[in-house]
Amino acid sequence: MLDTITFDSGKPGPTLLVLGSVHGNEKCGTQAIGRAAMELRSGIFSLDKGKLVVAPICNPEAYRRNKRYHEVNLNRVVKKHDKPSLYEHGLANELTAIIDGCDLMLDLHSYTGGVKPFLFVEYDTPDERAYAAAMRIPHWVKGWNALYHDKAELWQGDTCTYAFEKGKLAILVECGQHDDPAAALVGYQCIRRALAHFGLAGSFDAEPAPKPDVCRLHSVHVKRGEGRLLKPWQHLDPVAKGDPVLQYDSGEILASPVDGVVVMPVEKSTIGEEWIFFAVPEAT
Ligand SMILES: [Zn+2]
Repeated sequence: MLDTITFDSGKPGPTLLVLGSVHGNEKCGTQAIGRAAMELRSGIFSLDKGKLVVAPICNPEAYRRNKRYHEVNLNRVVKKHDKPSLYEHGLANELTAIIDGCDLMLDLHSYTGGVKPFLFVEYDTPDERAYAAAMRIPHWVKGWNALYHDKAELWQGDTCTYAFEKGKLAILVECGQHDDPAAALVGYQCIRRALAHFGLAGSFDAEPAPKPDVCRLHSVHVKRGEGRLLKPWQHLDPVAKGDPVLQYDSGEILASPVDGVVVMPVEKSTIGEEWIFFAVPEAT
C-alpha cells in the first residue's frame, strides 16, 4: 500500500494532495513533504481550513533502488488498470484512488540535465494559470498533452492528466536537478505556496510573483540506438534550427528542428525512452 498522511484542519475546505517520488530517483518531493509534515506536527505552521494529504513515496520499489521506475514509467501509465500486470500498474491503481479523494494536487519531480526549476501548464485555464503563477517558478512549459496523447507506445496516462479528467486542479513542478539539494527547498516552497494560494494556510511570500517565461514543446526525440549528446546540453539551453544536437554510433546526426530551446535532455537515456525535447518560446 502506498503510504499517505492526512493533516486535517477540522474545518471545511478543499483537500490538497502532494505527491513525491512518482519517479523513484526524484527524491526532492519526498524531502519537501517530510519537512512540511514535521513543521505541521511541530506547530511551525498550521492549516486554517481543509485537509492536506501527502503521499511521500509514490514508487517505493524504484525509490529503494534509486531508479526512475521499476518495470515501467509510472507517470506514463496513470489510469485504472483492470488487469494490472506490472508493478507500476498496481501503483497506478492505488494512486488514482488517492487522487480521486482530493480536490487539488501538486506533483513534485526533478530532472537530469539542468538546474532551472520549471512547471508544466497544460489546459491554460484561468485557475491553472493562477495556480502556476502562485508557485513563483518563472519557467513554464506547455504542450505536453499535444505531444504525448497520440503516442500510445509512450503514454497511457499521467498524474495531472488523470487529475484534470476527474475535475481536479493540478500542477506538476520539476524542482531542479535530481541531486541538487536546492530542489528539495523548491518543493517545500511549492507546498507552502499551494497551501497559501488555496487558503489552506497563511501566506508564504510577500513579493509579487515573477512574470513567467513560457515555451511550448515542439517535439520529442526518442532514443533509437546507442549514441551521445554532442554537447552537455542543459534544460532550456538555446538552440538554432539545424544545430547538431546528438549523434548515433551509426553516424546519424539529429539536428534541432526549431529555433528555440532544448528541454529535459537526458545524457544517458535508455533506448526506447525520451532523449531530448525541443520547444519554442511563446509570448505571454
Ligand atoms: Zn519525474
